[in-house]
Amino acid sequence: MSLYQTAAGILDRLQRKEAAVKSLVYDSGFKNVRQLYALVCETLRYSSVMEEIISSAELLRGPKKLPMNLAKVLVYDLLFGKGLQCGGRWKSTILAHRARLQAELAKLKVKRKVSSNQDLVTSMGGSSDGPALPRYVRVNTLKTSMDDVITYFKRQGYTYLGKARSIEELVDFARKSGKSFLQDLHVPNLLVFPPSTDFHKDSLYTAGHLILQDKASCLPALLLDPPVGACVIDACAAPGNKTSQLAAIIQNKGKVFAFDLDTKRLATMSTLLLRAGVTCQELANQDFLTVKHCESKYQKVSHILVDPSCSGSGMPDRMRVLTHEAGSEQEERLQALSAFQRRALSHALKFPSVQFVVYSTCSIHQQENEDVVKDILEQHPDFRLANVLPSWPVRGLSTFPGSECCLRATLSETLTNGFFVALFQRRSPEEKSISEELHPMNASDAEKEISNPSQVQSKRKSECIGQDSSSSTKKKRKKRKKCKTEQS
Ligand code: SAM
Repeated sequence: MSLYQTAAGILDRLQRKEAAVKSLVYDSGFKNVRQLYALVCETLRYSSVMEEIISSAELLRGPKKLPMNLAKVLVYDLLFGKGLQCGGRWKSTILAHRARLQAELAKLKVKRKVSSNQDLVTSMGGSSDGPALPRYVRVNTLKTSMDDVITYFKRQGYTYLGKARSIEELVDFARKSGKSFLQDLHVPNLLVFPPSTDFHKDSLYTAGHLILQDKASCLPALLLDPPVGACVIDACAAPGNKTSQLAAIIQNKGKVFAFDLDTKRLATMSTLLLRAGVTCQELANQDFLTVKHCESKYQKVSHILVDPSCSGSGMPDRMRVLTHEAGSEQEERLQALSAFQRRALSHALKFPSVQFVVYSTCSIHQQENEDVVKDILEQHPDFRLANVLPSWPVRGLSTFPGSECCLRATLSETLTNGFFVALFQRRSPEEKSISEELHPMNASDAEKEISNPSQVQSKRKSECIGQDSSSSTKKKRKKRKKCKTEQS
């Protein structure tokens, strides 16, 4: 398929939700990802300008039916881009209208009293960037309460609009500016402010009462939901936003073992945790893959958060960097990242008492998300996926049975950065014997009941907090012996 047809196809599917461009560009299979991404984004940016020019030039009136989005990409490249290098059978149609289109562009600039193309875009309603990311603020319950923070902001002149009822309501809210705020509908203790709000100098922020954390990044710890007093591992922890959220969930009781390879990031994390009032942490500048499962202090670890290094393709601006990499460089990088992600996740599932492991990335690539989860499920039949937040509208890509138990987040659909979350749960002994007869990756209806954090809590069987059956104690003693032998 040609560049123009592929770009037009993506515009058709997008209905102007630009955030989805990234994944659609990748999924299109078009070789020159960079060129395609640039063309789609720029056409979106010029969309309203193009609509007016195309309609004034009566471009769509001819006997041959030129689809609107295809007309837009062609006219964009003719007037503002590279000047129609390809274009197949439509090229001659567009070129026949060249003088008329250029005249309409000039007329439009006069009408709008602007001289540059950029000013023309701005004068016609901005860049079609889709919804802007709101300012999400997590209330740090180790230091304050939701009620106190709401009262504080009301005193600062903000209007409290209550708890949002839908993502659409959040989208509407994010389009308006002004001094108001909402409570989020999915994440407790999360407040939503208009996109331009800056709290970096706010006294509650500098005192660690507020954490500036994107909504999607709050989901892994929320869904892992360790009970108060639990032993938890944060495998790749720095700069520590999820660590402090885990500490708040377990109310600083129990333990969060947090690992990171990067010394500098770990030092920043240490400062941030101090500011956030976290006291239950044990930080280690260590490769998580070298953490020994059999070490005595990890025997009670029941919950693990694995948020490993990833391409970051779900974050604004990272796509630009990615699209500057040649296809092969990018492929190699994704392969290396997903190999590490598999190893980290697999390592986490081998801790003796672990019941729940949450896996997350800020990547939009299937290779780092569904593909990793699928392989790990195959390698670890003792675990299955819990169906997280069933009301969340965007699910894992349908690449394997049960992938809908995972969730995805995007700016256009969930008003967050691009993100992926999967929650692994250890199978109960009864389930294990049933599953041995069934396909290991078939999430049954019973499995899907475990759907949200409170249900997960109530369904939890053996908590990590020191309950041992005699047979498992024997097994653990055996493992410890093995560990000692390995260490010596
Ligand atoms: N969870 C963190 C948060 O919410 O603030 C963000 C983690 S970031 C996506 C990934 C982190 O993994 C980086 O800080 C990186 O230094 C660390 N990392 C990479 N390889 C690692 C390894 N083998 N063991 C431990 N940490 C590692």
